[in-house]
Amino acid sequence: LVARMQPFTSTIFAEMSALAVRTGAINLGQGFPDTDGPPSLLADAAANITSGINQYPPGPGIPELRAAVAEHQKRFYGLDVDPDHVLVTTGATEAIASAVLALCEPGDEVVTFQPYYDSYAATIALAGAVLKAVPLRPAHPGEPFAFDPDELRAAFSARTRLVLVNTPHNPTGTVFDREQLTLIGRLAAEHEAIVVTDEVYEHMVYDGRPHVPMATLPDMAERTLTISSVGKTFSVTGWKVGWISGPPQLVAAVRAVKQFLTYVSGAPFQPAIASALALPDSFYAELADGLQRKRDLLSGGLAAAGFTVYPSTGTYFVVTDVAPLGVADGAELCWRLPELIGVAAVPVSVFCADPDLGRTLVRFAFCKRDEVLTEAVERLANLK
Ligand code: PMP
Ligand code: GLN
Repeated sequence: LVARMQPFTSTIFAEMSALAVRTGAINLGQGFPDTDGPPSLLADAAANITSGINQYPPGPGIPELRAAVAEHQKRFYGLDVDPDHVLVTTGATEAIASAVLALCEPGDEVVTFQPYYDSYAATIALAGAVLKAVPLRPAHPGEPFAFDPDELRAAFSARTRLVLVNTPHNPTGTVFDREQLTLIGRLAAEHEAIVVTDEVYEHMVYDGRPHVPMATLPDMAERTLTISSVGKTFSVTGWKVGWISGPPQLVAAVRAVKQFLTYVSGAPFQPAIASALALPDSFYAELADGLQRKRDLLSGGLAAAGFTVYPSTGTYFVVTDVAPLGVADGAELCWRLPELIGVAAVPVSVFCADPDLGRTLVRFAFCKRDEVLTEAVERLANLK
């Protein structure tokens, strides 16, 4: 294995999910729902397979899906996206990797936030680019995670090529507001950097807060690549169909790389997803309402069990501090938790360039059936 990939030999999700299976623990580690998405979507995909939609789709994705993504951006955010400037990818993961590989020369710097979704650091390393990770921290215990504007400013340099933003943010559950995004965008513009924004949790925002896409901010559409995917919105994380849109020359660059990573994918899924994106507003509202209730159920149980619980306003996740339980290392607790009480979680330190930043933090996923969460809460109460 090449040296630059050696720190990335295994993923925490694989390790903790394997441990959960081995011990029969409830898996609140890896973020995937334990119920299927909309029945119409599942039926459409099955019918597409049996009716012969099984060969290579067009390189940029089928026209119906590209049009549906553009229509979705108009409907929810008032954004004008030309379907010709939408590229269908193998999940958001491939969109992120293709963007970084397409746009970064070795030595170029990528500003992002830590903790980060684990593929970011690996992908940046693969490109030979340099990760500049700005810490997200709560101002006080129990307050939402945020960046320090001065630390953000200091992360930019003449070598900054990309800013990789994720809102709603995995793992912290933070949703960046307009003011935070405006500062990120302004710094990107000042340094002539491109913004790549990972918005896979765009429909999982709670407490009536809005999701603000970076591309909706003044003058930002021209320097922003926006990424989302089917997995979270439609509860089919194994389908791995995503999309990226933005200025034509940037999308063309991403496509040049993407075509040699996977060429194409998901032929029978693509038409089904195109139809699902047009589901009525009630579908999207119920998704968020249901997850908000689950967040409250699990957060309440964690707090009662003695964890410090940070407020999550988006995503599938809630981050806790285990220091009040007398635990100095969240990773060490995660390795013991399945045996101890039959619940699996993931340590936040593995998502940090500076592991000390997340040393006592542990992430729990709440995208599970109510009865599973209720059982998990009962088990967590045994920790005391
Ligand atoms: N970005 C973030 C922030 C994620 O949490 C995930 C999770 N699965 C992905 C990207 C990957 O999305 P996909 O499965 O569509 O590749
Ligand atoms: N996005 C999910 C998470 O953060 C799963 C990612 C994965 O398994 N690679 O838990």
